[in-house]
Parts: sequence; structure tokens; C-alpha cells
Amino acid sequence: MPAKLIDGTAIGDKLRAELQVEIRALRARGVTPGLAAVLVGDNAASATYVRMKGKACDEAGLYHETIRLAKETTEAELLALVERLNADHKIHGILVQLPLPTQISTQRILHRVAPEKDVDGFHPENVGRVSIGDPAAFRPATPFGVQQLLLRSDVDISGKHAVIVGRSTIVGRPMAALLLQDGPGGNATVTICHSRTRDIKSVTRLADILIVAIGKPEFVTGDMIKPGAVVIDVGVNRVEDPSLKKGYRLVGDVNFEEAKKVAGALTPVPGGVGPMTITMLLYNTVQAARQWTQP
Ligand code: NAP
Repeated sequence: MPAKLIDGTAIGDKLRAELQVEIRALRARGVTPGLAAVLVGDNAASATYVRMKGKACDEAGLYHETIRLAKETTEAELLALVERLNADHKIHGILVQLPLPTQISTQRILHRVAPEKDVDGFHPENVGRVSIGDPAAFRPATPFGVQQLLLRSDVDISGKHAVIVGRSTIVGRPMAALLLQDGPGGNATVTICHSRTRDIKSVTRLADILIVAIGKPEFVTGDMIKPGAVVIDVGVNRVEDPSLKKGYRLVGDVNFEEAKKVAGALTPVPGGVGPMTITMLLYNTVQAARQWTQP
């Protein structure tokens, strides 16, 4: 039987509708959750992501500012901007779109964002608090969105073997921390694979839940999946397709056609994890505003 599709657009829409209750309550008390996005340079993909985040804020009734800086911006100038946003009462969440130009230390910038406004969850204070299972910490949007996809698709996570392929600080590692937490959406047995993992197929085939975030188009083939497994494809890759006007199409890190014959449930690309990432950023911004009103 073909895999059930996990529809990230529908689940994200439902979550955004639920979030409206809290946004309206905050606004009624004179607090409009506010997000500042900082974009340095002219990376086309980054500009698209920032535009999508701004649009999502507008639709949700959040205040937002996008600050665009030239690619020659110095680290000192960006640090000064982060300090200004840290002190700005209209702004509850700050995101610095990555990657940054090479003259700027990403770590130094991310570490300067006030932890209580760090809606991306990249500051070491939030990384540490997520790793010890603190629910008040900001969870990075992509793995948080994956966890919500699983919970809201009634996937039983507790006691299951989750295999995560990819160990980045924005997806793989925080994903492991969330699935390990002792509570709803957690209690999995977690294995992480990376580029040095030997015989990766023998590991991925053990997964009840397989989460792939490596940035390699259609890397995971049908024979790497245990029959009936839940497969979450985080990857977003452009592959050339001259038959399309734009000249490319988006594919995930999983071979969708093969996976859907083997998996029990599967996320598509696009329309799976992507919409959840933006939704969880809105969620985190509302959480930041709520926590700001209840210090
Ligand atoms: P990243 O920082 O480049 O990390 C990639 C990870 O994959 C690394 O840990 C790397 O291992 C591992 N890897 C690479 N090749 C591998 C292989 N052949 N076998 C096993 N592991 C391998 O990537 P990322 O930022 O986590 O992003 C991963 C993918 O998710 C990308 O396609 C990205 O566009 C997508 N993404 C999507 C969203 C969304 O909202 N949908 C959000 C974030 C990212 P090493 O550590 O050993 O090098």
C-alpha cells in the first residue's frame, strides 16, 4: 500500500489558526508580537526566505521589520544592530538570516542575540536548555516543526527507534534533543548518522522513524527504508529540469517515488517540512511575546 502523505501545509495552517487565539489575546492586552529579520547581502534564497517570513507575519497579524544590510557590512555594524534590536520593545523575536558574509563571525552574532529574543533557538543558552528538555526554551523551528508533524499525524514516538541522518546544529542535533526529551513528542531511542557513518543503509533500515536532513538530492532510496517506517524529508534541493520554465524543480533528500512504495507515511517536498518551519517561527515569536509579558 502506498505511504500516507503527511501534509505539512494543512498541519501548518491548523497550527497557525490555533495560534490566532493567543495572538488576539496578546493584542487585546496591547502586545503585538514583533519579529525583526536581518538580511545581510544579496543571497537570492535568503531574500526569498525572509520575504516569506514577513508575509507569514502579516497574515498572522504580527508586527515585523526586515532590516537589509549591504554585503560589505562589518561585524561591528551588525553587532550594533543586534544590540539595538535587543533593546527595542516592539521586537520580541530576532532572526539573523544565515549564511552571513565571510567577514562576519556567525557565532559572535548569534551569541549576541538576547536569549529571550532568540526565536531561532541558536544561542548557546537555548541550545543547552533544549538539550535538558526545558519547555520554556526556544526550539529551532525546523526540528520543532518535524516534531509537530509527527505528533499531529498521530505517530507514536515513545519507545520507537528514530534515525536522524545529518548532524547540523540547525536540524540534526536539535532534532535528536527533541525526540529524546522525556514527554509528549519524545522518549524515542535516537541514532544520528553523518557523513562518516559506515554502511548507512544498515542503520537507516532499523528506523521506525527516519528523518533525513543532509542536502543531497534523493539520497535515501527505497531499499534504505524499513517497510512501514515514517519518513520525514527535511531536504530542499534544486535539480535542473529543462522541461520547466524556471529550469529547475525542488526535490528532497529522499527519493519520493521509491519511498512511497515502502514507507508507512512520508512528507512530500515541497509541502512537508517547509511550511512547518515558518509556522514554528511564528509560534516562537508568540512564545517570546508571552514570556516577555510574564517575566
Ligand atoms: P548541513 O549543515 O549542510 O548539514 C548536512 C549534514 O548532513 C551534515 O551533518 C553532514 O555530515 C551530513 N551528510 C552530508 N552528506 C552525507 C552523507 N552522504 N551521508 C550521511 N550524512 C551526510 O545541512 P542542514 O542545514 O542541516 O540542511 C540539510 C538539508 O535540509 C538541506 O537540503 C537544507 O536545504 C534542508 N533544510 C530545510 C529546511 C526546511 O525548512 N525545509 C530547513 C533547514 C534545512 P557531516 O557533519 O559529517 O559533514
